[in-house]
Amino acid sequence: MRHIVLLGSTGSIGTQTLDVIRKNPGIAEVKALASGGGRVDLMEQQVREFHPETAVIYNEAAARDLQVRLKDTSVRVLSGMEGLLEICRMENADMVVTAMVGMIGLRPTVEAIKSHKTIALANKETLVCAGEYIMRLAAEEQVDILPVDSEHSAIFQCLDGRGPETVRRILLTASGGPFRGWTFDQLKNVTPEQALKHPNWSMGAKITTDSATMMNKGLEMIEAKWLFGVRPDQIEVVVHPQSIVHSAVEFTNGSVIAQMGVPDMRLPIQEALEYPKRGNITVDPLDLFQKSPLTFEKPDEGTFKSIPMARWALEKGGLYPAVYNASNELAVSRFLQRKIGFTDIYREVELALEQYDKGAAHPAAYTLEDVFEVTDPFLTV
Ligand code: NAD
Ligand code: MG
Repeated sequence: MRHIVLLGSTGSIGTQTLDVIRKNPGIAEVKALASGGGRVDLMEQQVREFHPETAVIYNEAAARDLQVRLKDTSVRVLSGMEGLLEICRMENADMVVTAMVGMIGLRPTVEAIKSHKTIALANKETLVCAGEYIMRLAAEEQVDILPVDSEHSAIFQCLDGRGPETVRRILLTASGGPFRGWTFDQLKNVTPEQALKHPNWSMGAKITTDSATMMNKGLEMIEAKWLFGVRPDQIEVVVHPQSIVHSAVEFTNGSVIAQMGVPDMRLPIQEALEYPKRGNITVDPLDLFQKSPLTFEKPDEGTFKSIPMARWALEKGGLYPAVYNASNELAVSRFLQRKIGFTDIYREVELALEQYDKGAAHPAAYTLEDVFEVTDPFLTV
C-alpha cells in the first residue's frame, strides 16, 4: 500500500486520484492533501473522507477558513509554499502525487525527490521547465518518477523497462482538440468558452486550453524527452481523434507496441499508484467494436505552431523549454481573462522565445536558480 501526499487534491487529477483510492481502498492511504485555495468546501469534504494528518492550502486566508471548519478534528492545517514543502518531506509518506497545475510545482517536486518520495507526475510544467535538473536529481537520489499523463503512462507501459537504445521513435498521440481541421484564421476568434470544450477529456481550464492550442502536445514532447531519454527527432506527434491509443513506441527492429484504453485519467492514475502491480478495473472496459474505426493523421503544424515551436525549444535545449512553458502559462491565464485572443497565445510564446534567444547567456547546464530567474517574470500565482 502507498502512503501518499496529494498536491492539487481539488483539481481534475486530484479528485480522480481520490476516486481511484475510494474505489480501491487497499491501494493507498492519504497522508496529506494540498490545494491552491479556490474550493475550501471540497477540501473540507476530502479531509473528512480521507483523514489525512495534514492539509495545506496555498492561499493563507483560505487556509484559515479551512482551519476553522476543521476545529472538531485533529488535522493540522498549513499554508503557503512552506506548507507544501513540509508535506513533501513527511516521514511516513512514500509517494507524492503532483497534480497541481503549473510551474509553481517545481519547488515541491524537488523537495519530494530530495526526501526520497516516489513521484507520480501529472504536473508536466515542472518537468518542462527543469527536465534535465529533475531527472538528474531523481537519478542521484534513486527516486522513481512514474508518469500520470496518459500518453507518458502509455509509453512507460510500452517500454516496460527497456531503455532508449531500443527505441526508434515515440509515437505521441494527440486528440487534436476541439479545433482539429480549423485554419489559423478561424482560430483567431476563438473564445474561452469554445476553448474550454474538449471532445474527449474533462480536465482543468489550463490544460484544456493547452489542448485547444496544442501547446499541451508541445509540452508533452518535452516531457517525453526527459522521461524517456530520447532525442527530439525521435518524437513524432500522431493525431488520433478517438483517444483510444494513448501512445506507442516503435522499437529499433520495427516492432510497434501501443497502449490502449478508454479515455479516462483514472486508468493512468491507478497505473502509477499500483505500479508494478495491476489491480482491479475502476473504469469502463474498452469496447473496441463500439470505438471502431480508429484513425490516425499528421498534425497541421502550420496552424498549430505549438508543435514546431516545442521542437525548436527542445533542440536548442537548456532553458528554452522553460521559457516555452512559462510564457505559455502567462498567455493562457491572460486569454482566460479575455485580455488577449486565442492565437495571441502563440505570438506571446514566440516573442518570449525570440527575446530569450537574443539575450546574452544560454547556459546548456543550468541551476535551479537559473530556472526561477527565467520563469519568475511569467508567474501567475
Ligand atoms: P486543475 O486546474 O483541475 O487543478 C489544479 C489543482 O492544483 C487544484 O487542486 C488547485 O487548487 C491546485 N493548485 C493550484 N495552485 C496551487 C498552489 N499554488 N499550491 C497548491 N495547489 C495549487 O488542473 P488539472 O487538470 O487537474 O491538472 C493538474 C496537472 O495535471 C497539470 O499540470 C496538468 O497539465 C496535468 N494533467 C492533467 C490532466 C487532466 O486530465 N486533467 C491530464 C494530464 C496531465
Ligand atoms: Mg496528456
